[in-house]
Amino acid sequence: MNYISTRDKSIKTTAAGAISQGISVEGGLFVPDTFPIFTKADFEKLCDMDYVGRAKYVLKNFLNDFTDDEIDYCVKGAYIGSFDDEQPAPISVLGENANILELWHGPTCAFKDLALQLLPYLLTTSAKKVSAGKKIVILVATSGDTGKAALEGFCDVPNTEIMVFYPSDGVSPMQKLQMDSQKGENVHVCAIKGNFDDAQTGVKKIFTNNEVKDKLAENNMQFSSANSINWGRLAPQIVYYVSAYCDLLKREGDRINNGFNIVVPTGNFGNILAAYYAKKMGVPVKKLICASNKNNVLTDFINTGKYDRNRSFYTTMSPSMDILISSNLERMLFELSGEDDKAVAKMQKDLSDSGTFTVSAEIKEKMSELFFGGCCDDNDTLKTINDLFNEYGYLCDTHTAVAMNVYKQYVEKTGDDIPTVIASTASPYKFANSVLSAVSDQKGDSEFDTVRVLSDVTKTEIPTPIKALETATVRFKEIREKDDMLNAVYSALNI
Ligand SMILES: *Cc1c(COP(=O)(O)O)cnc(C)c1O
Repeated sequence: MNYISTRDKSIKTTAAGAISQGISVEGGLFVPDTFPIFTKADFEKLCDMDYVGRAKYVLKNFLNDFTDDEIDYCVKGAYIGSFDDEQPAPISVLGENANILELWHGPTCAFKDLALQLLPYLLTTSAKKVSAGKKIVILVATSGDTGKAALEGFCDVPNTEIMVFYPSDGVSPMQKLQMDSQKGENVHVCAIKGNFDDAQTGVKKIFTNNEVKDKLAENNMQFSSANSINWGRLAPQIVYYVSAYCDLLKREGDRINNGFNIVVPTGNFGNILAAYYAKKMGVPVKKLICASNKNNVLTDFINTGKYDRNRSFYTTMSPSMDILISSNLERMLFELSGEDDKAVAKMQKDLSDSGTFTVSAEIKEKMSELFFGGCCDDNDTLKTINDLFNEYGYLCDTHTAVAMNVYKQYVEKTGDDIPTVIASTASPYKFANSVLSAVSDQKGDSEFDTVRVLSDVTKTEIPTPIKALETATVRFKEIREKDDMLNAVYSALNI
């Protein structure tokens, strides 16, 4: 297996090349040129394994230039001891058909941990192969969740440094505290005066500045990226869909082989793409249900074949899905077009020139067969949290509620009542204000008071990482001008 670029198939590299580069030189995204197909015998073996075993088995097929020992080191480093459940991705069953795949038992209580706990290991192992073991320097601009998950993932991973920039007034108090109290010898956090775009632009400028690159090279360092278009973030996400299938198979037997649906609350299209790849590998998925909040650019795209980002941007209570450009959709377009790199390059060019592109009738047809798209606003999000809590005593976060709402729409519209896996992407305690307002009239006096009230009212447990924050020591207090980000990097790296 090789990795090729979605915009130019003649560009080929290994897994280590794709992971350490992050993005292809001409702007395309790396994808495997062939996919492993798992047989009944493969799945039978997988059923008998724990999560670590399943992860190793699946990833071995994608990390073509990693040795077994390397994969073992990476997977164990990522998943042993860092999740609060012995299973990193357990399932809660609601009613007859709804299986909630809880992806938030990691150190930051959101699904990004499943990928970002592993990525640092994949990156450093890749760097050893392709760039002679230079120290990897990760820069992240974040509006909240990704920054913390990346900090936790890279915390004290040998031969890495990580620096996270966030807009000083653009993250929630809880997110700010999560980042400012981050432990680890190799982590650096800096607030900047400006908004998220300023932080993002600043990071891009540093990344592409040749003088800076040279200075890092003199010190035996190189930049790399932890953002969600890196193949090293997608591959770990395929694992939990394969694992969920095995769990269902063990519980329900052959009924599952008639097919099940997967619902994913979607922003950048990474998580749902991983579910598609699992289907491609032989997991019997019928429909992929793509759930959006009021920023429903993907719903419209699935229903019309026209992607149009020229529309209002809404700030919602499911902020991790407040996105108008879903960057991983590019990989799906590559699939749907029959790996037509020229067509993908053209669509992406149209998107950046005019904010819109339209797919052919053939692609639209394929898309409708694979996907169902739906959306839901904040009011319905709150109502769904309340309904689920009243009906099943199950408390979910705002993102998961969007997924549950769209799932319900799907069943009402189609009558399709086969078993379904719903990706639950965050702990309700991460969005305690909104979740509490959905289930009770009570209010907390502070962030942590709200968390306690939520726990009292719902009789659910506060996740340890959130409890620990209340007494955590703030280590990072620096606020810099946005023009001063490079100095922050130099001073963090001591160069
Ligand atoms: C990032 C995120 C999403 C969106 O996932 P994509 O892979 O970008 O589609 C959904 N929910 C939560 C809680 C997230 O942090």
